[in-house]
Amino acid sequence: MPPKFNMNPLKNPMPAQDPKIRNGNFDEVALGYTAEMAIDEAKRCIGCKNRPCVAACPVNIKIPEFIAKVAEGDFEAAYQIIAEDSSLPAVCGRVCPQETQCEGKCTRGVKAGCESVAIGRLERFVADWHNAKNDIQRVPAPSNGHKVAVVGSGPAGLTCAGDLAKLGYEVTVFEAFHVAGGVLVYGIPEFRLPKAIVQREVEGLKALGVKIETNMVIGRVITIEELKTEYGFEAVFIGTGAGLPKFMGIPGEALKGVYSANEFLTRSNLMKAYKANSRTPIQHGKCVAVVGGGNVAMDAARTAKRLGAEVHIIYRRGEEELPARREEIEHAKEEGIIFDLLTNPTRILATPTDNPRDPSYGWVNGIECVRMELGEPDESGRRAPKAVAGSEFTLPVDCVIMSLGTSPNPLIKDTTPDLQTLRRGEIAVDEVGKTSIEGVYCGGDAATGAATVIKAMGAGKVAAQAIHEYIQSK
Ligand SMILES: Cc1cc2nc3c(=O)[nH]c(=O)nc-3n(C[C@H](O)[C@H](O)[C@H](O)COP(=O)(O)OP(=O)(O)OC[C@H]3O[C@@H](n4cnc5c(N)ncnc54)[C@H](O)[C@@H]3O)c2cc1C
Repeated sequence: MPPKFNMNPLKNPMPAQDPKIRNGNFDEVALGYTAEMAIDEAKRCIGCKNRPCVAACPVNIKIPEFIAKVAEGDFEAAYQIIAEDSSLPAVCGRVCPQETQCEGKCTRGVKAGCESVAIGRLERFVADWHNAKNDIQRVPAPSNGHKVAVVGSGPAGLTCAGDLAKLGYEVTVFEAFHVAGGVLVYGIPEFRLPKAIVQREVEGLKALGVKIETNMVIGRVITIEELKTEYGFEAVFIGTGAGLPKFMGIPGEALKGVYSANEFLTRSNLMKAYKANSRTPIQHGKCVAVVGGGNVAMDAARTAKRLGAEVHIIYRRGEEELPARREEIEHAKEEGIIFDLLTNPTRILATPTDNPRDPSYGWVNGIECVRMELGEPDESGRRAPKAVAGSEFTLPVDCVIMSLGTSPNPLIKDTTPDLQTLRRGEIAVDEVGKTSIEGVYCGGDAATGAATVIKAMGAGKVAAQAIHEYIQSK
């Protein structure tokens, strides 16, 4: 009889495209486990009593139960267990920061030299297996006659819409872009999250009866107030994300060839600007500087690499402090991204011509930087970087991508009197997503500032239940 548990201290590695090939295409990097690999990995879970992984998952997926089903080879049962708590398992299995959530608490990973169970890879395997075997078969619940509007179609909005539709609400999602999905379609690149997966989730919602109205900028076309008073929505959920980019405020940020990471990624992902026949092409830089060290910076850098550039990540602290996920940093390095650490930009330089008729007029041709060293910890607890005198140098680049974080767009706040917001523009909510206006709820990045997919989903779920209780108690 084969042993019940697999006591291998290390995870089964994820098959992936060769870095030298994948840095020239937009196909998915990770290829996914086979059924044999998944069963073998699932047997690494010892089904421990305290189940710390479940508490560490923002939506409390019953992780040991689904993994036990994978170990038995009953993948459909595993999928049904995950689906009780998560509406986007194929997405979360790919992009969740598992190392700081479920896997970060896994008992198997506690001992030195041991790795956690590969929970994310198993979730992805189960979701892909289910999706390959099943058509979208969702039946709309009978209508309860109540209408709810959802503003924004990212993971918060999609989750809230799905949960309310299952309870019989007539839900309309209003999305500013021409495609639904939020950051899942406009931010995270195809090579990390194929757009067909997001599309399938959106189709699943439509099958539940959710209406999706794209090209609808709420606050411009219709206000939140009008959704309630003129369009008959009894409650509104705001899930508009945090899409407003930050800049450094250094000279040269308005030059041609300087992008925010959001604009660069949106043009590439959503407008398909990487294709030769795109109607809104993107500049294919020869040498690109990406300023910042988070996941978004890694996505922008790896996208620019695939567009043919030499790419430098410029980050003012050291390797240890890079906020991006380790896996993303490793993938970026394997693909040939150059890391200029302990380096800070001070100025972006223009091509040296004053002649507006010269085609190079107003374009970037370099970024001036200074070397940094780390001092004492600052209020964030991280060692504060300070400039090294006399260390200035210029990197010749023809494109700069600023990836310094984002905050919520002020449009909804500015057009919704009485909607209370916090210091950085986040919409103020209580623990169930209730805002300062009756019947108006909010969740995801719009309320927390830039966070994660699973946290946005969790907030959408909690708010859906609160909206249900609010409408039923009226
Ligand atoms: C490049 C990038 C990579 C990321 N990688 C990861 C990752 O690997 N793992 C992870 O967990 N998280 C990642 N994140 C963060 C994660 O994607 C977000 O936390 C999550 O998408 C937030 O979900 P949301 O529903 O609150 O908002 P969003 O996904 O931002 O969706 C908001 C939607 O609202 C729409 N909208 C905005 N204003 C209006 C309006 N006025 N009217 C109508 N619609 C409007 C927007 O167009 C958008 O579609 C990444 C983010 C970025 C930018």
